[in-house]
Amino acid sequence: MESIRFIKRLFQAYYKNQQKSFLSVSNLLEREFAFVPWENNIMIRHIGFISLDFLTDYLIHNVPKHMYSSASLYELPGASKMDNKKYLGCDLIFDIDADHLDTKCKEKHDFWECESCSQSGVGSSPKLCPNPDCKSTRFKKITWICEECLETAKNEIFKLIDGFLEPDFGINKESCFVFFSGHRGYHLHIENKKLRKLSSHERREMVDYITGNNISFTVLGLEKPNIGLGFFNQYVASWPRKIMLKLKEILSIENEEELKNNLSNFSLNKEQIGTIIKERKYIIDNIESQSKNYWNLLGFGIKSWKNLFFNLVKSIGTDIDIPVTIDIHRLIRYPGSLHGSSGFKVVGIEYKNLESFDPFSDPVIFSKKNFLKLEITVPEVPKIRVREITWGPFKMGEVLDLPHDIGIFLLCKNVATLK
Ligand SMILES: [Zn+2]
Ligand SMILES: [Zn+2]
Repeated sequence: MESIRFIKRLFQAYYKNQQKSFLSVSNLLEREFAFVPWENNIMIRHIGFISLDFLTDYLIHNVPKHMYSSASLYELPGASKMDNKKYLGCDLIFDIDADHLDTKCKEKHDFWECESCSQSGVGSSPKLCPNPDCKSTRFKKITWICEECLETAKNEIFKLIDGFLEPDFGINKESCFVFFSGHRGYHLHIENKKLRKLSSHERREMVDYITGNNISFTVLGLEKPNIGLGFFNQYVASWPRKIMLKLKEILSIENEEELKNNLSNFSLNKEQIGTIIKERKYIIDNIESQSKNYWNLLGFGIKSWKNLFFNLVKSIGTDIDIPVTIDIHRLIRYPGSLHGSSGFKVVGIEYKNLESFDPFSDPVIFSKKNFLKLEITVPEVPKIRVREITWGPFKMGEVLDLPHDIGIFLLCKNVATLK
């Protein structure tokens, strides 16, 4: 409890300082707000504000752990029943969360602890506690973040904007608002009057396109390879073009070992990889030609092409958290607020600054000059960089004098208490 009081005091000081410069979302009066308090973690929602001053007042007095506003606009955002809010439209939102991404680092830095016997381990938690006298199914799970997972998440944002939103939907970069969530990922908000009208079903169709889910190669003309692969060359639009350009990019790798390694990511067997490498010039010619387009390779039939294209689609498509985009009543973390599970700030980033944005430094607002004393309360805390310093790993029971910037992070992650 003392740790929570301490964090709240610092969060409060931040909100007090921010008052005049605290970010206002657009259409503030038409958005629903929601907060999660530190004490019980139960979300309070269906709140509307009549001005930014009232909102900052609320923050200073209540100092929530988490803060959200709706992606939707309503005539009466504070109405307690969804049906009475009078829905006006919803921003288009994409969420990329390191938690959903298939990164290898998770198995190194996520960990679990059995709630009954305190046995612990790294990686995702088992179904049953491995302690034969315990066999509990309840675990405290601690997910961590590292450069690898947040870099992967950032790359997905680039894939989304540069690969799909701009070329295929005509949404220009400048109208894409990117936000670091303050913890495990990035959000993308698009505020546009026409797009706000999209139904949930229409958003679903957009998501299917962007992820490459349910793509039909037959519809795209991939049926009889000895006649031709229909629309598959680099001059056509949309998915066939993306697949062809990706294939050409891979086949243009000069070093044969590197090329082999690359092709092995696409579920091809040794013979298939051999065929492709042998015929790579022929394949590139086909991709670059509008007239040839024949594609019949010995030992590489229609099934093999479909399999290769399917795997190429998986690597080109964007790994978004699908329900977030489809759900038109979603609550999104509020820009400028602090994330209670990290103490980091939710930061808005212009597209041109995204490349250089550093999620382990730019969202850190607490001082590196003030110190606090804390004790580690979990078996092991993985390494973490905050600003320019890499901290840890730390072991259970270690008592440390740490600057606020890393100290608050550890308290918010619930892996330490004040000493
Ligand atoms: Zn156990
Ligand atoms: Zn990671």
